[in-house]
Amino acid sequence: MALLLIAGIFGLSREGAKLVSQQKADKATVVLDAGHGGTDPGKIGVNGEKEKKLNLEIALLLKKELEEHDILTRSSDEGLYDSNSKNKKVQDLQKRCDLIHKTAPDCMVSIHQNSYTTPEVKGAQVFYYTHSAEGKKLAEDLQSALVEKVDPDNNRLAKGNTSYYLLKKTDVPAAIVECGFLSNPEEAQLLTSEEYQKKLSKAICDGVLKYLGKSKKSDKSST
Ligand SMILES: [Zn+2]
Repeated sequence: MALLLIAGIFGLSREGAKLVSQQKADKATVVLDAGHGGTDPGKIGVNGEKEKKLNLEIALLLKKELEEHDILTRSSDEGLYDSNSKNKKVQDLQKRCDLIHKTAPDCMVSIHQNSYTTPEVKGAQVFYYTHSAEGKKLAEDLQSALVEKVDPDNNRLAKGNTSYYLLKKTDVPAAIVECGFLSNPEEAQLLTSEEYQKKLSKAICDGVLKYLGKSKKSDKSST
């Protein structure tokens, strides 16, 4: 049963990758992953806000931002599991990986929100798979853009991780952006505002552009 599923994933991957490589001749592709969704709300904020909702809102703004810079995006749907599945969480993550492999993007960015036991802790932080040099580059570009554009007082650094499923199981440059702490009242409130979400998505877009080696100005020459 497990073998069959893996074979299915690889079968799809090759076909999908071929399709996308034709479109990719002149355009970069980014897979956007809005963390959690469906029956999995993710973290719950001190203000009652669900992580899955904020992740999706920010991912949609980021999608718009990237597309304005002529970058193709693919998004993972909320709750990518069968409703009769015994282990929804595992199936959801496997399907997200399947989409990433099928798309064969230049990079993958997954949007999440953080939480901690003490309310003082705050600030965006980006994670990458410890053994991925490209993932590290991507994460560092994202982290510095977030510090520069959103919160210059944030002294967090991009951090390696060996256990996040999505980072471990994908072979494309990938980063998880924890946009802020839902356990910090001030940040939890900011994260619900569209203005702040736009600021975050612009910063993440800048980080992606920097990683892809694209100049923002040359893409916007017509406006
Ligand atoms: Zn999360």
